Amino acid sequence: MFESFNLPRRGLMFILSSPSGAGKTTIARKLLAVEDNLSMSISVTTRPMREGEIEGRDYFFRTREEYDAMVADEAFLEWAEVFGNCYGTPRAQIVAGLEKGTDFLFDVDWQGAQQLSQRAREDVVSVFLLPPSMEELEHRLRSRATDDESVITARMARAGDEISHWDAYDYVVINHDLEDCFNKVRTVLHAERLKRSRQTGLIEFTRDLKA
Ligand code: 5GP
Repeated sequence: MFESFNLPRRGLMFILSSPSGAGKTTIARKLLAVEDNLSMSISVTTRPMREGEIEGRDYFFRTREEYDAMVADEAFLEWAEVFGNCYGTPRAQIVAGLEKGTDFLFDVDWQGAQQLSQRAREDVVSVFLLPPSMEELEHRLRSRATDDESVITARMARAGDEISHWDAYDYVVINHDLEDCFNKVRTVLHAERLKRSRQTGLIEFTRDLKA
């Protein structure tokens, strides 16, 4: 029976964090392109839209007033200030999706990972990506050319701080080679989907097996 191989299961919250420029966004896009049952958690942010970004795809761009109202309404699963801008993960879609077995990918900083782990430890799988070197990180930030010099300087200064949180993550992968890094991250996702506690259909399945 084919259905037997698609047992009902609870979705997971797959967190990818790294300093800006370490490849997180590229890995995230590649994962979303090949994984059927994986949705991006779209955050709300108060920062200005960058060239090429699309409302509702990259972020929900909101004013500070709108953001504050969402915080007051407890509409966020987690929220944090990063580089002087505010970011938050809208709660409703995630809670409903996990119940239905949808996995969500989160591109959040260490503060977001910490809050999500504290609030939903059983659902969270966190992966931290490290750059092969600080020189390479700076090179990648500059070649991206979407930010002005002061933002790049701030991001480099912040990278050391972000990296210091590596030991709070479940998995750490060094992004030396994009394809290799991607394969490792994907392997983590596939293994975590098989975790017994997530396979909510197992009780019924094994009962039928024995019958
Ligand atoms: P950027 O402005 O470059 O898109 O993102 C800056 C930083 O904010 C990144 O480290 C990103 O992971 C983080 N970030 C984006 N969305 C969220 C969110 O909803 N919550 C938290 N805590 N961090 C976020």
